[in-house]
Amino acid sequence: MSSTTDRSTALTDPARLAAVRRYEILDAPTDGQFDTIAAAAAALCGTPIATVSIVDADRVWFAATKGLDGVTQVGTEPGLCASAFCADGSYVVNDAAIDPRTLEHPLVRGELGLRFYAAAPIITIDGHRLGTVTAIDAMPRQLTDVQHTVLGHLADQVAQHLELRLAALTAVRAERELREEAVQRAAAAAELAERMRAAAATHTAAPRPEHCQLGGTKGCTAPAELKLADSWGDSAWGCNQHVEEAILNVRSVFIANEELGGLAAYLNR
Ligand SMILES: [Zn+2]
Repeated sequence: MSSTTDRSTALTDPARLAAVRRYEILDAPTDGQFDTIAAAAAALCGTPIATVSIVDADRVWFAATKGLDGVTQVGTEPGLCASAFCADGSYVVNDAAIDPRTLEHPLVRGELGLRFYAAAPIITIDGHRLGTVTAIDAMPRQLTDVQHTVLGHLADQVAQHLELRLAALTAVRAERELREEAVQRAAAAAELAERMRAAAATHTAAPRPEHCQLGGTKGCTAPAELKLADSWGDSAWGCNQHVEEAILNVRSVFIANEELGGLAAYLNR
């Protein structure tokens, strides 16, 4: 994975980029955990600058920096982070000004005058290379074997922290989805209950009496056939004959909707 061809392939490898996206770390607010790791890398290597770098397809984004205020990302020119992230083990440039891998790099030729560069790759549990933990100095340096090893451990810590962060994000999302689902289910249940209440109310509001109610003091034993209502709010059931009489003789009387009497029927007619 350390040749130039592998590097450019690795930069844009869709599976690797999907892994980078999965952690939703790019452009996320600074994480105190990564600041601590950057500070530890600087202290470990005795350098004024350290970074936790995530390598995107076309940029190296800094999840945390120590001693590099105001710089949030750099390009993917070969030689530094954009090469180091796909190296096997740690990647060290003791003097960048004379190292053929880096002497043309803008951070080496430019104002920063980078000379020393040491990085360990951040590798996910499923083997994707996300970036590096890097220590940088403007003067040449050497690292001991122990420093190499511990720099690797710091990169492993970044990978572990990213997994924890992802698990937390996933849990929060799952909980929110469950809550939204419960709210929707409750709303649907409430709507159904409301409809059933309305249906039940309609039934109880429209009981049909057995006999005609329009027989006056003498009463009428004929079966109730139709419901009559008037615009003042009264309603009654009558046999066919009494209903006909009432419609002919009483003003503002009309055959009502069976469910509605009186004023309601008048307004709904
Ligand atoms: Zn009658």
